[in-house]
Amino acid sequence: DGCRYGLLPQPCRALVLVNPQGGSGQALSIFHNQVKKMLMEADIQYTLLVTDKQNHARDLMRTAELSQWDIVVILSGDGLIFEVINGLMERADWRDAIQKPLAILPGGSGNALASSINNYSRFPPVTGNNLLLNCTFLLCKGLISPMDLMSVTTVSGHRLFSFLSVSWGFVSDVDIESERLRLIGGARFTLGTLWRLASLRVYRGKVAYLPLEAKIDSSPNSQQFTTGTNGPKDTLLVPLDQPVPSHWTLVEEEELVLVLGVCQTHLGEDFICAPAALLSDGIIHLIVVKAGISRSALLSLFLAMEKGTHLQVQNPHVLYIQTRAFRLVPHSTKGYMTVDGERVECGPIQAQVHHQLGRVISG
Ligand code: ADP
Ligand code: MG
Repeated sequence: DGCRYGLLPQPCRALVLVNPQGGSGQALSIFHNQVKKMLMEADIQYTLLVTDKQNHARDLMRTAELSQWDIVVILSGDGLIFEVINGLMERADWRDAIQKPLAILPGGSGNALASSINNYSRFPPVTGNNLLLNCTFLLCKGLISPMDLMSVTTVSGHRLFSFLSVSWGFVSDVDIESERLRLIGGARFTLGTLWRLASLRVYRGKVAYLPLEAKIDSSPNSQQFTTGTNGPKDTLLVPLDQPVPSHWTLVEEEELVLVLGVCQTHLGEDFICAPAALLSDGIIHLIVVKAGISRSALLSLFLAMEKGTHLQVQNPHVLYIQTRAFRLVPHSTKGYMTVDGERVECGPIQAQVHHQLGRVISG
């Protein structure tokens, strides 16, 4: 397969997907008032498509003739990006389809990928309208970079593709419980965090992961199985109903506050979770916070995440692990589990990274 770096052609044909409900409902006017002019100046011809319901973009990506566009632009939050990626991966020609370059313009309340790309492109940390300007500028420049994706298998055998996060415990609770606060934009996460801190609870479950230094294909019981028909084989995983391979590491503690497996630096505009992450480092950055951490230490941890300095302070309750695959088995199916901020069934779940499976505009 060819080089996954590239440059958009000029002129360029773009499909622009806008979620009119994203964020505080401003996405469409942002497009008309700010983005359109810049695209025209950069000789980017666009077809505008306003989504009218959930999964509209996913269904479109699964069935559309993709050769009519050079790029798919997503003006929304992370939810619409998730739809596009999974729609592309549901196609029979997924291997080619997922190579279609994507461009992310922040227009939601959760703009993690846009903020991460702003960071990888060495722009100063910005939010709101400045983040939009930076991302639109990157689109006009047209540099295409490969991006890792995670394949995520849930207990019912569904397989999803994730560009961002698998989350359980504190952070996914905040994400889901604060959804009705979408109108206040990114502040919903801050409010939600304070609310959850006040009613802090313990989540019980087992975490296991494949250490980075383990040789990748030396596993004698590697099954190379896939669930579903499409997508690359999960060569590092065994089926969820079988124990993890013996060369995996088990986290001893089973009383936890949160588990986060992420592929990007940012989980929100002011929320830097894995400062070392890169767009295609082939790594899942796993953060586990163990129970017993005090409320004040947890609050400090979240405050430090605004700058990404939280891992500089050694805290025995906070584990940071770089890995290529992990499994999480909660003891109870109550509570929320999210993939890229979207709710999935709560139960055993596992993920493995697929290096450079997708492509996005970056600096
Ligand atoms: P936000 O960051 O504000 O949550 P997202 O892009 O994540 O914005 O979108 C939130 C949810 O809205 C996603 O689950 C997405 O699938 C869904 N969605 C997309 N288009 C529409 C629409 N037209 N009406 C309602 N929901 C939509
Ligand atoms: Mg969202």
